[in-house]
Amino acid sequence: MECRKEENLKNCNCTYNCSKKGICCLCVKEHRERKEIPACFFPKSAEKTYDRSIKHFVEINK
Ligand code: SF4
Repeated sequence: MECRKEENLKNCNCTYNCSKKGICCLCVKEHRERKEIPACFFPKSAEKTYDRSIKHFVEINK
């Protein structure tokens, strides 16, 4: 299956300077290993804090 990087980038709100941006499979793998959640699950205001923790995700979705 072809990587959909270009397509994914249209919906990716991650502002972090990361080599995995738009490569969702690698992004999810990396964040999962760190017990984090990818940027696209966070609204802009929360995304720009770079706090990708599950705790932060739960807090903003209460
Ligand atoms: S999974 Fe990662 S790379 Fe894919 S859209 Fe979300 S933040 Fe961007």
